[in-house]
Amino acid sequence: MGGGLAGLTTAYLLRQRHPVLFDLRPRFGGNARGERWMGTDFSIGSAYVMTPDPGSFVHRLYHRLGLHLVKRSSMPPDPVEIAGQVAQGFWQGAGLSPAEQAAFQRYAAVVTDMAENHYPEIPLSSDPVAAAAVLEMDTTNFEADLQQRMGMPLPPLLAAAIQAYFHSSFGAGMQEISAASGWNFVAAEEYGRWVFPGGNAALARALWQKLHHVELTSLPSNAPPMLRAGCRVVDVRRDNQRMRVTWVDAAGATQTLRAKTVVMAGSKHVAKHVLHDIAALDPPKYEAMQRVNTSAYLVANVLLTAPVALDFYDIFLVHNAAYPMDPVACELNSRPADVLNGNYARVQNLPRSVLSFYWPLPWASARFALILNDPYTTWAQRLVPHVLDTLSMLGVSASAVRQVRISRWGHAMPIAAPNFIADGVPQELLRPFQQRVFFVNQDNWALPAVENTLEDARSVAAEVNAFLG
Ligand SMILES: Cc1cc2nc3c(=O)[nH]c(=O)nc-3n(C[C@H](O)[C@H](O)[C@H](O)COP(=O)(O)OP(=O)(O)OC[C@H]3O[C@@H](n4cnc5c(N)ncnc54)[C@H](O)[C@@H]3O)c2cc1C
Repeated sequence: MGGGLAGLTTAYLLRQRHPVLFDLRPRFGGNARGERWMGTDFSIGSAYVMTPDPGSFVHRLYHRLGLHLVKRSSMPPDPVEIAGQVAQGFWQGAGLSPAEQAAFQRYAAVVTDMAENHYPEIPLSSDPVAAAAVLEMDTTNFEADLQQRMGMPLPPLLAAAIQAYFHSSFGAGMQEISAASGWNFVAAEEYGRWVFPGGNAALARALWQKLHHVELTSLPSNAPPMLRAGCRVVDVRRDNQRMRVTWVDAAGATQTLRAKTVVMAGSKHVAKHVLHDIAALDPPKYEAMQRVNTSAYLVANVLLTAPVALDFYDIFLVHNAAYPMDPVACELNSRPADVLNGNYARVQNLPRSVLSFYWPLPWASARFALILNDPYTTWAQRLVPHVLDTLSMLGVSASAVRQVRISRWGHAMPIAAPNFIADGVPQELLRPFQQRVFFVNQDNWALPAVENTLEDARSVAAEVNAFLG
């Protein structure tokens, strides 16, 4: 159940068993979906992957899918917008006092040390010493841990830039994110990213194509399809030695099938309602599902009939040291955290471009603001000044705007709060239910990243194979 990257990857790894894959949307991919405009693929959600370690499972997977052939690398540091300009020398503290510059240097040294000597692996490593270090790191928040390692407070402008990164990447501020999860992202950025045409939708599409090929070549032409988009699973329950799955198909009809095993690859806030009577049948697991909180997000793709001269991937829109640092300030002064070059990995040199504004909504009630009061008009009006400022900064005329496409993500990202891992919540979430139901999704580790999602898909596919024999 669930055809995002977790479900697609699990199904791909189990493809010889011809699994059925349901997704409630008309298209697979979940948060990793994209669109195409006149030859340009762009992401409407999940954007990039971390540069994979050579020989790792994810590295081999990207190669098997041919993604290494279409990727473009993006290396740190990211540009930062200050006062309407791309600030030169921002990460060296250019133009600031010597004391502030010293803090920027100290920050860079700590990040390098974390990347090279203390990188926290999530999912937890099988090495007990490394795992214990991550559990310890998970008990504190990123901001406190960072300042302790730096041995000094963060100067306001540096704090603002780091906060914009946390809002964009985690959907929450560095005070709300565990140090282990925070360093898992921040330190990995040191090795750069892989960007595919259309962002991580390219990964979803490659997986879908492999599964579709199996469907076309291995099943009789009159067999029911493996890939079932537009099908909402509404109930999963035990039925003797099988699980019974009930779904509502694209035409609104209710249907059922009996399965040897089920993999729940949707988010836990849905799974806990779909799994029949889980609160009574498995209280610890249900309690763990209740620990998953999510944040909301908005992505705006601006389609331009003009090229953008500056070759960048991701500019953080800090403006000044008054960047909103806590949920209350964010709600009062909500704005996009960064702008991506949506056509960064495009091969063709076309006279068009796409700017993708990433607009996290890091306060508890934000998802309701995404649906109330004529939401598209409301958010579009709020977006306009940010688009105009960015176009002006990049030297692009406003008359080049062909269209603005807004995507709303209600439960976009699980919040990687302190103690989520240290309290053992992931182990409860990963534990199979009624021996036959397995779990993959970014929220197993409350970490909104492709890498842990794919790693869990690999473990769950192995468990399913072992169970089925
Ligand atoms: C705006 C945004 C930007 C992001 N950027 C990045 C990034 O750059 N890099 C990165 O690594 N990560 C990023 N992420 C995190 C991203 O979510 C994960 O990397 C990953 O794509 C999560 O995949 P998933 O399969 O676990 O979950 P999802 O993508 O949420 O997939 C779950 C699927 O389950 C389906 N589903 C739910 N309920 C049912 C039901 N009842 N029946 C049938 N189907 C159901 C949903 O429709 C969905 O397709 C971003 C997320 C968002 C929202």
